Amino acid sequence: MRLLNLHTLQFEEFYSEDDTPPYAILSHRWTRHEVSHRNLVDGCDQNSAGYNKIIEFCNFARSRTTSIFNKQRGLREDSIVHWGWLDTICIDKSSSQELSESINSMFAWYKNAAVCYAYLCDVPATFEGAAAVAKAFAESEWFDRGWTLQELLAPRDVIFCDRAWQVIGHKCALHAREHGLSPKCAMNDHKQLYGPSLNAEIHQRTNIDHRYLEKPICIFAASIACRLSWAAYRKTTRIEDTAYCLLGMLKINMPLLYGEGSTAFMRLQEEIIRRSSDQSIFCWTPAFGGLTHARGALLAHDPRDFARSSDIVATGQSPDTPYALTNIGLEIRAKTKKIWDSKANRYVYVMQLNCGFPGKDPRFPYPGIGREEELVPAILVLEHTSSYENLYQRVEYCSPEVLAKKGEEVAERLFYVRA
Ligand SMILES: [Zn+2]
Repeated sequence: MRLLNLHTLQFEEFYSEDDTPPYAILSHRWTRHEVSHRNLVDGCDQNSAGYNKIIEFCNFARSRTTSIFNKQRGLREDSIVHWGWLDTICIDKSSSQELSESINSMFAWYKNAAVCYAYLCDVPATFEGAAAVAKAFAESEWFDRGWTLQELLAPRDVIFCDRAWQVIGHKCALHAREHGLSPKCAMNDHKQLYGPSLNAEIHQRTNIDHRYLEKPICIFAASIACRLSWAAYRKTTRIEDTAYCLLGMLKINMPLLYGEGSTAFMRLQEEIIRRSSDQSIFCWTPAFGGLTHARGALLAHDPRDFARSSDIVATGQSPDTPYALTNIGLEIRAKTKKIWDSKANRYVYVMQLNCGFPGKDPRFPYPGIGREEELVPAILVLEHTSSYENLYQRVEYCSPEVLAKKGEEVAERLFYVRA
């Protein structure tokens, strides 16, 4: 990765994680005045707001990280942060290969950073009053963007700064929940250096469960549907980025093809199905009442379709037999149940998925932590298509009351679900 020296504004490349020195990473919203890698190297744009932001980041990171690392971690002098990474200038976007490589690595770059500073340009300076700051923080557009989702989740600590680079507070990985205390920052030093913990405010704003804020590694235990639900209301400037900004969170690597449009999200789902056996990927509900959807599609149109899927839990159990996408759709071997749907006047086929809804037992309030028997399985409802004997299409996914309905068990067999 290419890092910026915080003192000299020179770049240096580091080729392996082991050789990469500790660095501070910036998370921010892009404005119209950002400086590119080429322009910084050429010394252009030095009077722009974008250039100013770079200088302010360097000054801030230099002063903060030196004191934090000396005081708190007791690290050696050579571990003090002298390097920074900013997405505007550390990627040379004139090279599509470099851009692709960077986007596929970006989650790891945020995860491995010594510290992440989130610069919220729409939060007024703290001298304008604590109430104004809290309100502006809760309303900040930083929470509405696609890329900032992984920038929030991947680093261990995220320190939020207002427009004037004053610390508002932090996302804290050191909450004291497991010791039976109320969930609050357990580090005295944190409060001094990072301001108050904002986990409760972030949860309120993003609907992301506390455990995923406290322990970044836990996000990989969240179901695919739950992870996609976090992205449901986030926007990106380029439509392809609604998919590309999720790669790291889903542990997917794929080539980027700017220009492919909404196909990017289709390709992402295909890639997930190829690599993961978490069937919660089928647990979505069309946004906008399904007006934009082709009837019977197995795959979602965009992350908004997962908006209501945040409570889906993956069991982690592999299906008995592998399944795969083929040219006509999903090829799968499974048991189904044939049920008469009196409202629609037709038979539907229901299939149990390896995911479900958390039980109501208060001893197991967190997704993935409850015992499996606490999980109420999710099911996929299919209908037969007239075009091919073994071909079905998706109707919906739902909770399993439907399973209780009288119907005819259909033995395990191979069939296809239109993609
Ligand atoms: Zn803390």
